[in-house]
Amino acid sequence: MRIVIKVGTSTLAHATGHLNIRRVEELCRTLSDLKNAGHEIILVSSGAIGMGAGKLSLKERPRDMATKQAAAAVGQCELMYTYDKLFAEYNHTVAQILLTGADLRDEERRGNFHRTLFRLLELGVLPVINENDSVATEEISIGDNDTLGAIVAVNAEADLLVILSDIDGLYDADPRKHPDARLLPIVEKLTSDIEKLAGGEGSSLGTGGMATKLHAAHIATEAGIDMVIANGATPENLYRIVSGEDIGTRFCKVKGVQTV
Ligand code: GLU
Repeated sequence: MRIVIKVGTSTLAHATGHLNIRRVEELCRTLSDLKNAGHEIILVSSGAIGMGAGKLSLKERPRDMATKQAAAAVGQCELMYTYDKLFAEYNHTVAQILLTGADLRDEERRGNFHRTLFRLLELGVLPVINENDSVATEEISIGDNDTLGAIVAVNAEADLLVILSDIDGLYDADPRKHPDARLLPIVEKLTSDIEKLAGGEGSSLGTGGMATKLHAAHIATEAGIDMVIANGATPENLYRIVSGEDIGTRFCKVKGVQTV
């Protein structure tokens, strides 16, 4: 299978903005093993701004554009250094691709991205993709990595998109407000009732909430790709997700879509 995995800042970093070493090590080990088992893995990783903020000892996620861009420039290095080091332990080579919305809207640039991505996969490399936050302003940005994950999955003609987050999946009510809320293991169809379940914001370090995840689910399932939202606290769950077990919430691809 070709699998796109999106990890959020809340999975990669502690609330301090510093790296959650145990988590990231488990993630890289699991992804390396899935690759060894024959799967093709593409990682869409957030964390540039959050980790940059940590490294620069900023008290919170920056709000103004210049500081955000500066934090991303610092944090993206730290992020790739970490991935390079951890994946190298298992003999896997990583590559960095940074994109903006403008790159994906422009046919020629999107074609270049597509070609590079497929060549990297042929070469057995594990691409790590993020938004190019140090140059992306609001007008040209994709804005959130859930959407970026879905766009990458479509461009990569993936079989599965997994979004690892700080929540177990989609609930029938906001679990932070309703302790008896139930997790929905499977969403066969993205109806308007399901869309209403998308509440507000995510964590203080990341950008996404459930709304961006459902938006990603739309993009992926309509392109004939299943999408799973699961808790990133246990990256080893990826083994079970890949083998089709009920972990988190699975959004079923729209039937009858011809995938390439
Ligand atoms: N690209 C952002 C970062 O690396 C994250 C965006 C998101 O998590 O949605 O910090």
